[in-house]
Amino acid sequence: MYRGRNNGQRPRFGSLRGRFKSIDVSRFVNKAVVQTPIQEEPIKHAFADFLISDQLKTNIADKGYLKPTPIQDRIIPLILERRDIVGIANTGTGKTGAFLIPLINKAFFNRSERTLIVTPTRELAVQIEEELREFAKGMAMYCVLCIGGMDTFGQSSRLQKPHNFVVGTPGRIKDLEKQGKLRLHLYNNIVLDEVDRMLDIGFMQDVKFIISRLSENRQSLFFSATIPPQAAEVMKAFLKNPAVVSVKSQETASGIEQEIIKVAGRNKIDILHDLLVKDEFGKVLVFGRTKWGMEKLYKELLRRGFKAAAIHGNKNQNQRLRAIKQFQSNEIQVLLATDIASRGLDIEDVTHVINYDQPASYDDYIHRIGRTGRAGKKGIALTFVD
Ligand code: AMP
Repeated sequence: MYRGRNNGQRPRFGSLRGRFKSIDVSRFVNKAVVQTPIQEEPIKHAFADFLISDQLKTNIADKGYLKPTPIQDRIIPLILERRDIVGIANTGTGKTGAFLIPLINKAFFNRSERTLIVTPTRELAVQIEEELREFAKGMAMYCVLCIGGMDTFGQSSRLQKPHNFVVGTPGRIKDLEKQGKLRLHLYNNIVLDEVDRMLDIGFMQDVKFIISRLSENRQSLFFSATIPPQAAEVMKAFLKNPAVVSVKSQETASGIEQEIIKVAGRNKIDILHDLLVKDEFGKVLVFGRTKWGMEKLYKELLRRGFKAAAIHGNKNQNQRLRAIKQFQSNEIQVLLATDIASRGLDIEDVTHVINYDQPASYDDYIHRIGRTGRAGKKGIALTFVD
């Protein structure tokens, strides 16, 4: 399938020997994926069945959603019944709509309802805010984005105006609370999204601080792809008698074709180049381990005439958002990213994820490849191994 640049030879796929001790490379190929058997429960509801406002239904239809995803089908009625929730779900399952739809509805019918949504990354916060704006079109619903990398002054003054939603990252939320600009006890609906990622990034203390300041009288929603021990600790402090809904395994790898590419002794940039010139590599997300490595690769790809951008810890917020927008709108073909910079990205139609450097853990691997094959589409994940 993949021809070398000069000699037309096939790169060597499939040998499972590798010198990486952390992850068995056999886990990067399809046959190694263990699919936890899941009960394919039929979708029980149409959007029309939910007890939500007509305007919201129109907005959902305008977004092109024909029927609820499994998590939406199961969670929306529970949130409308005011249950606390544990949603074990990865990105790509439609979890954002699953919590936004009922929470917007709640605020629409009772303007005193306020929701705080906490996410691990700025990019995810921005994406949630954008989705919220689409779902709540014409419903006079205001949302304040509270993320790092942008000035606090604008955020504080927006917090003083009427609003029903705050979406933000833990560090900035904590800072604004400490400055008295964001009064957490006034929010009676709280969403912690991608909790496992928050803990990975080192937000445990900030998350605990935020929980300690919340009102007792609240509805609490907790989303995480996995429940490591620290996340279980957060769950205990945060939730009351939650309904647990898990839709995780079904999307993890089923729509994604996974292969390894042996690179031993060959120039990785040339191999990448050979792949990127192929027609089918339309929208490619490339993951690397370090910001320096990704910056170097980015410059080399530009030199070779590819349309690319990079997101990593050395790029400021505006540069990162611009890169993501360019990728979303197909102005560039290749987006290079480090793991942290890419958390929670929701970009449609990524044709290929390429692990230029191996991920540090299998969990990171699943997160990376989950950027392709989303919403039921096919995707391809390729991992370079020595
Ligand atoms: P999420 O898991 O929330 O990041 O959503 C993954 C992708 O699925 C996003 O591009 C959503 O716009 C899309 N999506 C969410 N719900 C639906 C739905 N009911 N029908 C079609 N696409 C959806």
